[in-house]
Parts: sequence; structure tokens; C-alpha cells
Amino acid sequence: MTTIKYGSTNLKAPKVSFGEALLKGLAPDRGLFMPDNIPQFSSEEIIAMSSKTYPEIAFEVLYKYLKDEIGGDELKAMVDDAYDFDVPLENGYEKKYVMRLDQGPTASFKDFAARMMGRLMQYYLKKQGRRLLILTATSGDTGSAIANAFYGLDNIKVVVLFPEKEVTNRQRKQMTTLGKNVQILSLDGKFDDCQALVKEAFSDPDLDYLDLSSANSINIGRLLPQSVYYFYSYSRLVKNAGEKIVFSVPSGNFGDMMGGVLAMKMGLPVKKFIIATNENDEFPVYIKTGNYKIIVPSKNCISSAMNVGHPSNMSRLVSLYGGVMNEKGEILQPADMDKMRDDIWSVSVTDKRTKETIIEAWKEHELLLEPHGSVGWAGLMDYIKEYGNEPSQVYVSLETAHPAKFPEQIVELLGFDPKLPPSLEGIEEKEEQYDTIDTNYTDFKAYLQKNYN
Ligand SMILES: *Cc1c(COP(=O)(O)O)cnc(C)c1O
Repeated sequence: MTTIKYGSTNLKAPKVSFGEALLKGLAPDRGLFMPDNIPQFSSEEIIAMSSKTYPEIAFEVLYKYLKDEIGGDELKAMVDDAYDFDVPLENGYEKKYVMRLDQGPTASFKDFAARMMGRLMQYYLKKQGRRLLILTATSGDTGSAIANAFYGLDNIKVVVLFPEKEVTNRQRKQMTTLGKNVQILSLDGKFDDCQALVKEAFSDPDLDYLDLSSANSINIGRLLPQSVYYFYSYSRLVKNAGEKIVFSVPSGNFGDMMGGVLAMKMGLPVKKFIIATNENDEFPVYIKTGNYKIIVPSKNCISSAMNVGHPSNMSRLVSLYGGVMNEKGEILQPADMDKMRDDIWSVSVTDKRTKETIIEAWKEHELLLEPHGSVGWAGLMDYIKEYGNEPSQVYVSLETAHPAKFPEQIVELLGFDPKLPPSLEGIEEKEEQYDTIDTNYTDFKAYLQKNYN
């Protein structure tokens, strides 16, 4: 087997090891890292997964990429530590399922990727005697996923900035009740103010000594773990080698769907990916017409984590189909659109449909969905309308957050307050700890210099 190296989607940076790509985040030519060859699974290997646990499947998938860099026992310890929660597959009707990716510590599918990335980073940092200070701004959910993912790890500290008035109580408590290596800062400002402070810190040479890193969603260390749950759901629902499955993925920055498409390129038998977006429909338009036009500003929809007018992983998808897209969203070399259409079908779902679907799924199938998962389920229903229903076909729609994270929507549409998942129970009573800073860079910088050395 050849060693896998990681090249840039902009094609203008040297290829590097996984460890280097992980700690760098972005390639020096501002492109995103992608593996230069994709490891393969045989159908026997895939069928054999049916008797394996989630951490065991995560190990198998990730070890194909990492075996030249990380020892098997060490990787096993990481996946066991990262994936100590359930991945329920709930039946809707016939062979249509919802995969609930909401049982992690912040009840969001982002836990799957962030927890693994944290452990991988810790491994390389320890080995190289290095450390990182992760600096991130959040409007709610990303901050808590990052804070929880890195909580208690060695060689890594985390500072999260959030806008005091734009974050719900529950979101704040998911960050501020941790402690240890996680520090939370509140600002009397907007999310954009938080983002601006973080950006300025990254470009300030006086802070170079802090080894700042962003751990953001384009990191290759977040992408690869998102292939695993596609293998897992397949292994639970399909018994015959080669049988193909349909996935519906509610999408914003397309990290989730890229994990799926990579799984397919690794050999997972997939009939189609349904990529369901909210009213930010740049992708459905692109796959239909071949013309890509970013949406600025992005539209505000109730599936707020998917309010994205230019998905940050688009250049990765384009690269998998032989094209080149730069970081501004300009297509320098067109992708093979026919091939992309063989694999992917895409649809945009309005807020009105999203709400109607929450009601329908509950009334007709007792499926409790929140706005993001509802976009996925509505996309699946649209696909079935277009191509016809096949009762023997396995369909899986991804639910990316727990309904209890959206109590206002659920109460309005269904008339009850959903029960919190075990991971969030008791959070209201926990003690909070956070600092408040002014919205100016001088104070923020002084805070970092005083508290970190
Ligand atoms: C981030 C997020 C998404 C979108 O995932 P992408 O990988 O950005 O496409 C969907 N649902 C929820 C709840 C999210 O937090």
C-alpha cells in the first residue's frame, strides 16, 4: 500500500503528512487538505462490520488513513475515548430510518468530528513536545462542541468568545460549566465582534508565542471521522454484500456530506446522496446548472447551523470530481458534473416546509425531528416523490442535533417540550464560570498575555 499524503485543493502547496495537515488546518496556498489517494474497503470487510461496535468501525476506517503515522493501540485508545455514546437508528416507516447523531456531549453531530480531532491533535502535540491554544468565536453551538471536545486534554488549552446576548442559556451553560483547560469569555457585542477579535489575534505577531490555532470545521481531522457513521449505519441495516443505500444529509458547510462521499469513494455501496439545504440554495442550483453563485449575505432560516451561502467544503467536493474551486468560490476548472449527478441529488427546503415536515413526521411516524433533521427528512420525501418509492430500498436520513436543543420550535409546532438527552440533563443546576471582557482588541490581547504564557 502506498503512503497517503495530503495535498491542497488549490494545487499550489507541497503534499504533507496527516499530522502536519492536522496541525496546520489550512494549506499554505489557502486551499483545503485532501488525501491524494483514497483507501479502499472490500465488500467482505464492509459486511464484517455488522458485528463490530461503533468505536471498532471508527478504528477500521481511520486506521486505513493513519496506519503509517499512528500505532494501532494508540488509535484504538483514542476512538474508545471519543465514542462512548450511542448512535440510534430509528425506523420511520418501511425501510426508511433516521440516524440520530445527537447523543454526544453537546447533542450535536459536530461532537463526532470535534472529539476525534481533539484526540488526534493531542497525540501529535505530545509526540512533538508542542502545545496549542485554541481560540474560537461562537454564536452558540460550535463553541460548546469545541470546548467539550478538547475538555481535559493535555497540551491544549481552549478560549471561546461568545456574544452575551446572542447565546441561549442552555448554549452558554454547555460551555461555562466545564472548567479545567477551557476558558470562556463573554462580550457585550455581536458574533461578528467576537470573530473580529479572534482574527486580529491570529495575525498579531506579539501573540506568536501562544501557538494559536482555530480548530475550525475545514480541518482534515474533522472531515475523516465524519465518514464513520455512514459505514456504521450501513453495517446495521444491510445484510447483503453490495446492496446500495440512499442517504439524506441536511447540509450547510458540507463537512457532513463530504464524509459520506468519501465513504462512498472508499467502497461503501451508496445509491444516492440527497443533499438537502435550507433556502440557501447555491448548491442545488449548481448541481442542476453547473453555475456556482455564492449567496451573500446568507439567508436566515430556522435551521440556523445551515445558513451558509458558500459552503467551506465546496472546493473539496469539486476536487473529488476532477475540478478546481478556489477559496472565493471561483471555478478554475469545472468538475465532471454528470458524474457528480450520478452520486448526488440536491434540493432546497423552505422554512415553511421545514415546519410542516416536523409536524408530519411526528403525526405520521412518531419521528421527533428538529429543524435541521427536518430539512433532511423533507429532502428524502422529495427524492421519493421524484424517483418513486421503493419499499425494499434502505433510506437513511441524518438527524444532526437533538430536538431538545430547539424547545421553542417544538413547543410551537407540536405542543410539548422535548425531554433533554442524558448528556444535557442537570446542566441547568451546574455552576458557571466565565469572564467578561470589553469589545476592544487591546483589552482582549492584554487578557491573553496575562492569563497564558
Ligand atoms: C453544523 C450543522 C449542520 C451542517 O453540517 P455541515 O457539515 O456544515 O454541512 C447541520 N445541522 C446541525 C445541527 C449543525 O450543527
